[in-house]
Amino acid sequence: MKQILWFRRDLRIRDNKILEKASNEVMPIFIFDKNILEKLDMDDKRVTFIYDAVISLKKSLQALGLDLYIFYDTPKNVFTELKKLDFDEVLCSSDFDSYSIKRDKDISKILPLKRYLDSFLINPRKNLKKDGTPYKVFTPFYKSLFWLSSSYQIGESTTNSKLKLYKYKSKTPTLEELGFKSVELPEFLKKTAENRLDDFKEKVEEYENNRDIFYKEGTSNLGVDLRFGTLSARIIFNEIRKLDKKNSEVFIRQLFWREFYNYILFHFPKSEQENWNGIEVKWNEDEEDFKRWCEGKTGVVLIDAAMRHFNKTGMMHNRLRMIVSSFLSKNLLIDWKKGEQYFAKKLLDYEASSNIGSWQWAASTGADSVPYFRIFNPYLQSVKFDKEAIFIKSVIPELKEVNPKLMHIEGALKDKYLKPMVDIKYSRQRAINVFKEAKNARV
Ligand SMILES: Cc1cc2nc3c(=O)[nH]c(=O)nc-3n(C[C@H](O)[C@H](O)[C@H](O)COP(=O)(O)OP(=O)(O)OC[C@H]3O[C@@H](n4cnc5c(N)ncnc54)[C@H](O)[C@@H]3O)c2cc1C
Repeated sequence: MKQILWFRRDLRIRDNKILEKASNEVMPIFIFDKNILEKLDMDDKRVTFIYDAVISLKKSLQALGLDLYIFYDTPKNVFTELKKLDFDEVLCSSDFDSYSIKRDKDISKILPLKRYLDSFLINPRKNLKKDGTPYKVFTPFYKSLFWLSSSYQIGESTTNSKLKLYKYKSKTPTLEELGFKSVELPEFLKKTAENRLDDFKEKVEEYENNRDIFYKEGTSNLGVDLRFGTLSARIIFNEIRKLDKKNSEVFIRQLFWREFYNYILFHFPKSEQENWNGIEVKWNEDEEDFKRWCEGKTGVVLIDAAMRHFNKTGMMHNRLRMIVSSFLSKNLLIDWKKGEQYFAKKLLDYEASSNIGSWQWAASTGADSVPYFRIFNPYLQSVKFDKEAIFIKSVIPELKEVNPKLMHIEGALKDKYLKPMVDIKYSRQRAINVFKEAKNARV
């Protein structure tokens, strides 16, 4: 039996299903997919992260007497060539977004493809309601998975120690040969994935208290690892669960929001393009308004700080994501899809399902969304979660000497800062009217 082990978003050795399922002679590969890379900017931070992770995986596999052969091409071309070497099958982890589903379908016409559930805790095809339809609301979905969420440990995969390497001549392309330049990553991403997990283990008890305070490092910062599989969801679950610390439940629940959005996108693939609840909103199509939001020049300091920080680092705290997405889709009345695409372009932990699900949540168009009349007030959010303007000042240095109190009062900064592009009370009411109309039109 000759197998290709196709690593994709499972860039690790520990708890890797394909390393367990592989049986004899194997050729581990990673493909820098031209279909994806050609759409990215040359300074895309994710490519630097993935490139480093792939090289590190290659070294880890070499330490096991294996290797990782790295290609820069389309998967179709790679497998068409490899088929000529008489491989029996390809092993890989399941991926559920639309591009991956189509890609895998095409590849399975070239070579048999065996896929294993590895990037998520549950297979979205399973776990339906009694009537055979999918859950649409998080809480019942989560309750139905109590058997899993309450378990002490979820079985991890072990590496088959009897694997033999199929030797192949290839040269690892440099990042430059892939058309990218190496860029500076945020400090926490310079550590190993295991170190990031260790750091979080120290903080998990304070997770519930600190997770919304965006100037503190209160969350796990493990989103990028989950996205590219430098850690599996099972490892994270198990390591946090066995600490048996106060508040670990709150964290584990968040891991299931990731499952929920993956499940929703799988069952409702159209929600990638359309409002999940089918309402038709009269969006504001002013490109200048959208540009000001993207660049962090709205005049609303908290929104601007969040967006400028994001543009620089590729990261944004969850609460800030909720605030800026509410501001875009409600106060500015701009289609959530534009915000979703902007995040998709830059977010280091970009995951189609979580991003689409969360944007639709914020825009009140999705599954289990925020009600349309609940709109974040950015000034109330900043006074509550950044009273001393620590985060704001760290991003907008020209406000360093300004009294923080003024930053939490609409219009109080006067000539010290840009004039706010919208009045919060007015734009809130406008959004309520527009969404009410859209909702009524549907009934
Ligand atoms: C508009 C918007 C867009 C978002 N886009 C993404 C995205 O592209 N990719 C992404 O992974 N998350 C996304 N999220 C969810 C959340 O903001 C991030 O998962 C979180 O900020 C990552 O930081 P962390 O790992 O420190 O989170 P922690 O609080 O430590 O949570 C641990 C893990 O749980 C999962 N998780 C936590 N909250 C959520 C949530 N609300 N929805 C889904 N999963 C969650 C993530 O995998 C996260 O890494 C988005 C949220 C909003 C409001």
